[in-house]
Amino acid sequence: MGHTFNYIIDNQKIQFLFEDAFSSVLNYASQSKIVIITDENIDAHYNNLFTGFHVIKIKSGEINKTQQTVDAIIEQLLAASIGKDVLIVGVGGGVVTDIAGYVASVYKRGTRLGLVPTSLLAMVDAALGGKNGVNVGQYKNMVGTIYQPEFILFDLNFLKSLPISEWENGFAEIIKHACIKDLAMFENLSKHNLADYQNNFNLMSSLIEENVHLKMNVVVEDVFEKKDRKLLNFGHTLGHAIENVYNISHGKAVSIGMVFAVKLSEKITEFDAHSTQKLVKLLEQYQLPTSFEIENDKIIKLLFSDKKRIGNEMHFVLLNELGSAEAKPILLNDLENYINEIMICG
Ligand code: ADP
Ligand code: ZN
Repeated sequence: MGHTFNYIIDNQKIQFLFEDAFSSVLNYASQSKIVIITDENIDAHYNNLFTGFHVIKIKSGEINKTQQTVDAIIEQLLAASIGKDVLIVGVGGGVVTDIAGYVASVYKRGTRLGLVPTSLLAMVDAALGGKNGVNVGQYKNMVGTIYQPEFILFDLNFLKSLPISEWENGFAEIIKHACIKDLAMFENLSKHNLADYQNNFNLMSSLIEENVHLKMNVVVEDVFEKKDRKLLNFGHTLGHAIENVYNISHGKAVSIGMVFAVKLSEKITEFDAHSTQKLVKLLEQYQLPTSFEIENDKIIKLLFSDKKRIGNEMHFVLLNELGSAEAKPILLNDLENYINEIMICG
């Protein structure tokens, strides 16, 4: 059943419209005041929903998450004489919600923003927390802002058209959440597989809602990433580097990154090998890869340019046990040695 809940960040209320219909965006502004930003895939599936709205379409895919795309949108807004009182609504996956958030935060120094995540990854992760950004060459999210939407609308019917690879991406982040914060979620996921969730709407709906609360609780406590928000990078440090060099999907890269992170945890924290095996099994259950042959020199070069690097150290998210994480500083030279030891290096 549909319901609403709120989170407050920096005195700004964000309304979560859970299991709501897309048409509810009209409760926030009249059609003439709304500009929808979406991508060509979503538009192809759902343009009937967009009838009568001003729609700006971008090309789909991470490769288009660039300043150039943002500039093209801004030019279209200006050409259509869109005022500062516009409500920008981003309808799509993480690329669209990031671009829409960024545009809304800079167009005429800031407009209203609403988000309608349509991919599982965007619902449980990308559309939450206000971070947005564009990639600069191979460096992910190097430019962007933090800007909260007024509302985030979850219409789970969008998932019906989601390609299988995107389900995997979403589950990689869900498993990440379970690993860092929620042993019970981890155990629940272990009892099911991807098909169970795809075929059972209620099961999927409660899993998404739990993940929204998990991430929002972390974000509310820590908008600027001084404390727990760092933990959300679990699996992502190595993951991003692999994603950049090998062009594999975000979910697959994060999955490989999580396995590396727990093997590193075995060496540095009390994390036990049995739990590593449990995570590997779970990832496999959700069709995610758990090993990958890398060219270590390329990966290490990218890691050394990571945003999270501070001098000759990097904060790396490790697990103490399943459901409990901690960011620890690791010397870059040590990290290089660990990569050579743990990863299969070609
Ligand atoms: P993310 O994985 O961060 O959500 P994208 O915005 O690139 O990243 O979305 C992934 C891909 O899935 C894109 O090609 C996008 O067009 C497509 N997509 C997103 N939501 C849906 C949906 N509900 N149905 C079909 N395709 C979708
Ligand atoms: Zn991620």
